[in-house]
Amino acid sequence: MIILTFFKKILGITDPEAVPNQLSPIPNQGAKIYTRSEHTLSRAQISTEALKVLQHLKKSGYASYLVGGCVRDLLLGREPKDFDVVTDATPDEIKKVFRHCRLIGRRFRLAHIYFGREYIEVATFRAAADPDNNDQVVHESGQLLRDNIYGTLEEDVWRRDFTVNALYYNIRDFSVIDFTGGIQDLSAGTIKLIGDPEMRYREDPVRMLRAIRFAVKLGFTLDAESQKPLGELAELLNAIPPARLYEEFLKLFLSGYGLQSFEMLRHYGLFGALFPTAERNLTEESQGFPKLFIIRALENSDRRIADNLPVTPYFLLAALLWDSVQSLANQKIAEKVPATPAYQIAASQVINEQTKRIAFPKHVGMAMRDVWSLQARFFQRTGQRPFKLLTHPKFRAAFDFFLLRAETGEVDPEIADWWKTFQNAENHQQSLMTQPGMAKDPINKRRNRSKNYRYRVRKKEPSDQNHE
Ligand code: ATP
Ligand code: MG
Repeated sequence: MIILTFFKKILGITDPEAVPNQLSPIPNQGAKIYTRSEHTLSRAQISTEALKVLQHLKKSGYASYLVGGCVRDLLLGREPKDFDVVTDATPDEIKKVFRHCRLIGRRFRLAHIYFGREYIEVATFRAAADPDNNDQVVHESGQLLRDNIYGTLEEDVWRRDFTVNALYYNIRDFSVIDFTGGIQDLSAGTIKLIGDPEMRYREDPVRMLRAIRFAVKLGFTLDAESQKPLGELAELLNAIPPARLYEEFLKLFLSGYGLQSFEMLRHYGLFGALFPTAERNLTEESQGFPKLFIIRALENSDRRIADNLPVTPYFLLAALLWDSVQSLANQKIAEKVPATPAYQIAASQVINEQTKRIAFPKHVGMAMRDVWSLQARFFQRTGQRPFKLLTHPKFRAAFDFFLLRAETGEVDPEIADWWKTFQNAENHQQSLMTQPGMAKDPINKRRNRSKNYRYRVRKKEPSDQNHE
């Protein structure tokens, strides 16, 4: 658990249960206010652009605060992904104050203040859900479909998701305002929904995914009450637009914590809402497949992110759905469809089904298809074919995929080794390697794979996954 120096400083304790009331924070309309000297968030940590926006709003007579993830991350000593500003100025008023301002959003109207190509997002305080209000549309499931009523800071706070995401840094006096016990939850390492968890998940089911994401990313625990409704409400995610789920998928799986996200989503019964066929296959898995393959793919991509190497959504999606493609292709093959069209049909069906849940862009689907369809070509090692494969734009990704299959015992590792050598060999050696008889008969290899390699788990080897 993360122990925060500033809590120790202000509270003189490490046990969050033992927060004495008479010490600061000063109560103010139900809020606790941590003055400048009582927290560790300093202006030096805030981006110049965010500071400019905060100061300019202040000078124009408006309230302005940093809020959300940036306050949370700064208090934890982490670098924020971005800086979100909230104000009592309406979007139109914000537009008048800033020259380079664009208003965006239908569900929430927001202002983007541009600094070159970068921008700072500025939102107006919003009020909590009120079903009688015409500016709010609530679906019968409890989901909030439109929510555009402006409010005060005191109202804004209650419509935020988690206590640790509802801290406000006030640019007027540099204090941190805490209405919901967020500081205490930060110190205890707890992700806790504000208000009644079931109602809050119903209002916006994506909060279930966000709960997992923040728990994983911050190394926090999900509060017991916030955990309880998860599995039961998982199917509410079906009502979320697939494009929004793609955004969440990227944040969950491509931020360096993919493996933990996967494990936690499965643990709470949410993975199936995102990847129904993959979940079905995982439930029916035998002898560790396909889970091992997925785990290795996620580990690999987490490691690449840690090493600042690029990762691509298509590679992970291809890995997550590989078993679905294979199962379907095998069904087709059993129905006497030849292997190549069987795989093509399977790939199309799996992609079609998956985009109903997670709308990845077309080019991502095409790249997934390439990675899958190139797999068969690694078994062809004579004549010109290996040379042609090397020049394919998706060779790298397909080979990394093949390496993962070899590592997890799905294909003969000797073939993967052959390709490693072949890629780096001199021309004359490459010609030798591709002579008939030099590589073993590919048909036999494929037979070997299904006989011997499907369930043979090899020791993990570092792979040089580099997709581009
Ligand atoms: P990250 O580090 O991933 O950016 P974040 O907390 O800043 O984390 P954002 O998605 O950028 O997350 O949202 C900014 C803030 O807006 C959150 O901290 C939270 O207060 C509020 N928020 C975002 N999404 C929701 C939601 N679905 N329901 C309620 N509040 C939300
Ligand atoms: Mg953010």
